[in-house]
Amino acid sequence: MLKFVPFERYELAQLKKYQQCHLLQPYRCPRCQAILEPRTQGLECPSCNFTQIYYQSGSLELLDEATKVLKNVLKRKPVSNPSENNGNGKHLKTSKEPAGD
Ligand SMILES: [Zn+2]
Repeated sequence: MLKFVPFERYELAQLKKYQQCHLLQPYRCPRCQAILEPRTQGLECPSCNFTQIYYQSGSLELLDEATKVLKNVLKRKPVSNPSENNGNGKHLKTSKEPAGD
């Protein structure tokens, strides 16, 4: 599905991220291959006067997924941290539990 101009503010913010995301293919100028810059009136080429007046709405969903992937990569810890409720120390002992008779 295509989204046409004018782009909303949040779309511009997302498109800017999209154009900079290393995991995704940015929108490029078909004439000079420059990476297009999101503007309210379209994705503008910084090098020539080409403007693309739409984007694929699926792109922003892709961006969401890519952002999640990148976060997971950044979260990767060098040392595994044993979870606290792993039965070590935190042992709740219920004394005098009524035995079902
Ligand atoms: Zn261009």
